[in-house]
Amino acid sequence: MEQNFGHCSQINLNEVLSNPDFKKLWNIKKDDISVCKDCERRYMCQDCRAYRKNPDDLYSKPAKCTYFP
Ligand code: SF4
Repeated sequence: MEQNFGHCSQINLNEVLSNPDFKKLWNIKKDDISVCKDCERRYMCQDCRAYRKNPDDLYSKPAKCTYFP
């Protein structure tokens, strides 16, 4: 992932969980992701926000997908 929230031996887990940046990816659905939102496989396909086709776009399709609906 692009962000580091600290080492578990040095930071309290509650501090990490209360950081809004830690949760910013939690509610992204396949219906929100470009290309995937029009794909018939979107409800059975896993997703990884760590590797995106466009790293600058949080809603970009997964980098390793080669399928084009
Ligand atoms: S197959 Fe590819 S385009 Fe379709 S939902 Fe999965 S990642 Fe998205």
